[in-house]
Amino acid sequence: MNNGKKEQKGTRPMRRVEAREWWLWGFAVTVTLVLTAGIVSLTYPGNHLLQNSEWLDLKEWVRGLACLVLLFDIYTVYQQLQIQRIRRELIQRNQLFEVITENAADMIAVVDCAGNRLYNSPAYQKVLGYSSEELQLTSPLEQIHPEDQQRVLEAAKKAELTGRGERLEYRMRHKDGTWRILESVATPIPNEDGQTAKLVIVNRDITERKRAEETIVHNALYDALTDLPNRALFLDRVRHVLVLSHRHLSYKFAVLFIDLDDFKVFNESLGHAAGDALLVQIARRLTASIRGVDTVSRSVLTQAASPVASEASLARLGGDEFTILLEGIRDCGDAVRVAERLQERLAIPFDVNEQQVVTTASIGIAFCATSYTNSEDLVRDAEIAMYRAKREGKARCQVFDNAMHTLAVKRLRVETDLRRALEQEEFRVHYQPIVSLQSGKIVGFEALSRWQRPEGLLLPADFIQIAEETGIILAMNRLLLREACLQLRAWHSKFPCDPPLTMSVNITPKEFAQTDLAAQIGTILAEVGIDPRSIDAEITETIVMANPQTSNLVFSELKALGVHISIDDFGTGYSSLSRLQGLPVDTLKIDRTFISKIETDSDTSEIVRIIIMLAHNLGLKVVAEGAETAEQVHLLKELDCDLVQGYFFARPGDHAAVEALLMSTLTVEGWPSPIATR
Ligand code: C2E
Ligand code: MG
Ligand code: MG
Repeated sequence: MNNGKKEQKGTRPMRRVEAREWWLWGFAVTVTLVLTAGIVSLTYPGNHLLQNSEWLDLKEWVRGLACLVLLFDIYTVYQQLQIQRIRRELIQRNQLFEVITENAADMIAVVDCAGNRLYNSPAYQKVLGYSSEELQLTSPLEQIHPEDQQRVLEAAKKAELTGRGERLEYRMRHKDGTWRILESVATPIPNEDGQTAKLVIVNRDITERKRAEETIVHNALYDALTDLPNRALFLDRVRHVLVLSHRHLSYKFAVLFIDLDDFKVFNESLGHAAGDALLVQIARRLTASIRGVDTVSRSVLTQAASPVASEASLARLGGDEFTILLEGIRDCGDAVRVAERLQERLAIPFDVNEQQVVTTASIGIAFCATSYTNSEDLVRDAEIAMYRAKREGKARCQVFDNAMHTLAVKRLRVETDLRRALEQEEFRVHYQPIVSLQSGKIVGFEALSRWQRPEGLLLPADFIQIAEETGIILAMNRLLLREACLQLRAWHSKFPCDPPLTMSVNITPKEFAQTDLAAQIGTILAEVGIDPRSIDAEITETIVMANPQTSNLVFSELKALGVHISIDDFGTGYSSLSRLQGLPVDTLKIDRTFISKIETDSDTSEIVRIIIMLAHNLGLKVVAEGAETAEQVHLLKELDCDLVQGYFFARPGDHAAVEALLMSTLTVEGWPSPIATR
């Protein structure tokens, strides 16, 4: 209503001047009447007044009258000046209004209560493309979006009744046919009775701002690369379905967690741009597939005469992880069928950068259960099942079950314990000797982690995998390397020999993936002050084969440092010696599974013989892992194996145990049997 006040402010002086004008008119009429009455009475025949000079003096009459007329004139001039001033103000105000409205970026319109347009500012032409004349021919509602018309009418009515305009957003059609979003405020102009006579509507084009806001909201809920819903939106959808399933117990759904197998390898070998292109194609194919899935599930449902319609929504959680929410299914079997079908579709090669790319995916499935209370748990369980699928050989699907849950809880506990153990320095290093078959003497050791817990010593099988998956391994192995190097330095001075004793350390996939691995190792070796040639980095065949490109680079860097390189667990990774040929490797460690069978299985001993022969041809040394019996050691010596590591010689032990062993084998004549005796 404050605009009404402004309006009153403008009209009040005018009213005052007008009132004074009426006074003047009244005064003039009164003076005229008095004058007329005086003249009439004075000129009336038989009038005695003129004879009675005491009673009336004509001069006085005229003088009094002249004074009145003078006063009247002065007041008329004053009044005229006031009127002129007010008129000038009004003209100026009008000019100001014109300048403001003609130049304002906002569109200003004046309409009367019947909805007729009285004025449209030129901004209409700039913003919406309509000239003032074009607008004049149409009703104000005509360009407004049909869905918004009612709201606009209601707001105008409300402003008219209450005298207060509210902010309103609505869509208006541009002359080119597109819709613009306007923000408007209607201000009522009251007439003299205080009733709304007109509405001044100020419209602002907020289309761009709205789009920017929408983009921000979209980006918060959708993945930038694939434009699929992201984790937040997916979890929200699962939350809704979860509530629904709690209300209707017959309503079943499942969450599928899809992770591409070996996507990292692809990314590294073809580059990140190609990786992104592949992800976009996968997203498209999954989207197309779940449309198919929808029908697949529906046909299943039709057979079951279920009244529930199925639906599937896809999301990308990040990296190569996708999730699908499968609604309205009959049982877990439906979800498995859908997962298998997705795997089939993903198996069809993709065309990336004119190259045919074949990919597989591991899928974990979490089926709804009343025990679930939040969506995160469902996605977490689907992820746990996916990891199980990976561990079982990839390219398969796994349904989450309670056993997995127990395992997951255990893993979580181990993870927490591992972090604590790291802080409280509970990790120990044990050393297992590596013995030369030629001299029977210890030539070096393999450093192996042990976890000293109150209940006993834990072997790597119980924690290395989790440490690896959680990344704890990085800190763990840095500590191990430092301690093993310090120990080796002490043994070098206590047990000097030529060549000096060596120390083998194991490198895991996570460590191997670090681009600065060689630099890290180099720093530790320099700090401890140990010759890098005494250090042997053991890298499993599987790691090498999974990262051929990285391997070449990391190997060269390690070699440049002076560190030796061994291929660990050789024979388990389906690689061939020829593939190792180009790599700067020094030693092959034949896996324990071969060594354990060489005495009993002639084929195995033949394989070992060939491996040793080919390795020697390539200039590599061979270590046999896990020799437990004298026969195995004897056979390995016959097969011309260079080094042996196994329980037959010694189990891994702490530094004191190993030191005692070194005393007896290095300072005396080497290992007592069977090398020396046979
Ligand atoms: P690996 O590198 O192949 O280590 C050899 C494993 O074989 C050791 O098991 C060793 O105790 C065992 N072994 C040696 N000789 C015999 C034998 O005659 N018979 C039998 N049955 N086993 C034998 P461990 O210490 O349990 O380590 C298992 C694996 O854990 C290692 O395999 C290595 O891959 C990993 N690992 C151990 N410690 C570390 C560590 O500190 N860092 C990393 N990254 N990995 C480690
Ligand atoms: Mg090893
Ligand atoms: Mg090994």
